[in-house]
Amino acid sequence: MSEHNSRYNSEALRKGKWVKLICGASNQDLPSIADLCAIYATIGVHCIDLAADAAVIHAAREALDWVHIQSGKKPWIMVSLSDGEDAHFRKAWFDPAKCPINCSRPCQRICPAKAISSYGGINEKRCYGCGRCISTCPLGLITEEDRRLTLKEFLPLLKKLKPDAVEIHTAPGRSKAFEQTIKEITSNDLPLKRLSVSCGLEGYGISAEQLAQELWLRYQSLRKHGHKPLWQLDGRKMSGDLGLGAAKVAVALWKKIRPLAPPGPLQLAGGTNESTIKQIPKGHGPEGIAFGGMARQIIQPWLLEAQTRQISLREWPEGWQAALSAANELISPWLSRDSSYPVNDPKKGHTKFVMTN
Ligand code: SF4
Ligand code: SF4
Repeated sequence: MSEHNSRYNSEALRKGKWVKLICGASNQDLPSIADLCAIYATIGVHCIDLAADAAVIHAAREALDWVHIQSGKKPWIMVSLSDGEDAHFRKAWFDPAKCPINCSRPCQRICPAKAISSYGGINEKRCYGCGRCISTCPLGLITEEDRRLTLKEFLPLLKKLKPDAVEIHTAPGRSKAFEQTIKEITSNDLPLKRLSVSCGLEGYGISAEQLAQELWLRYQSLRKHGHKPLWQLDGRKMSGDLGLGAAKVAVALWKKIRPLAPPGPLQLAGGTNESTIKQIPKGHGPEGIAFGGMARQIIQPWLLEAQTRQISLREWPEGWQAALSAANELISPWLSRDSSYPVNDPKKGHTKFVMTN
């Protein structure tokens, strides 16, 4: 990773242009991961959030090296972990034997990954846990299957994978577990460029003020161990990046948290889509955004066609250009923003926080 790229990515956080691609936490569909990474790295995203899995990271790195040669761009690679029992990685599941024969299969129609065929259940390799299908089943047959990675399993992986950044998914009341996680990660002496903390309100029954207090506790741990924070606000869990409603929830959370949050850039996730930017006041807004299912969905036709042809999207110029243009429409408005951020100091109110880099 060149110093130039690292500066470009850090600068994006400072200027409010940061874009992360969430590649799908448990995606084992390696050719699609490589093409997804190649497309969004070429557009200029700053970070790609991948499953902590050697094969996944290898596929992504190969694609990112290709992009680096073509364009000089190289996003950070981020891997995620939870500091609690909740699973960060999920896949959907149902038993097809229970489906009525005359079901119109709304689950199949909504799946952006084409993981549900016209018969049978969910193709585990294709499902990337976006959650869209869950609410479509009139019989409530679709459930989430949790995938957990413990700290003990994660640490050796971290050493092997050498990501540029780590994201810790935390929840209210887990400041001690968070502190322990940070301590262990730090003791592995990895040159991490950023430590992201992901937290939301949904499902915890707390207020924005309480969430902000939790973030301040995480902030103390991060600074104690010398890490630069990045706060990921999850509007909705497994939102599937659905329309305007989800976009509004994600932006509303940012509006509540911004005046209360500890220093460090705020990045939206969980419900982000093409409508999100329209909800944000001009010259203002979060310092970054993450796109998951939406980013994949808009280029899915070309990903699938490349798979059918048994080639990489990079080997199919028309498909590559078409996918690039669709991805660009979603991402470019964010890359051209400038929203430097004032940040809270608990004693002085709003002050400028200087990120050293
Ligand atoms: S809609 Fe999402 S969660 Fe459901 S099967 Fe497809 S990828 Fe998996
Ligand atoms: S919508 Fe429900 S019942 Fe219909 S095919 Fe999908 S999982 Fe089965």
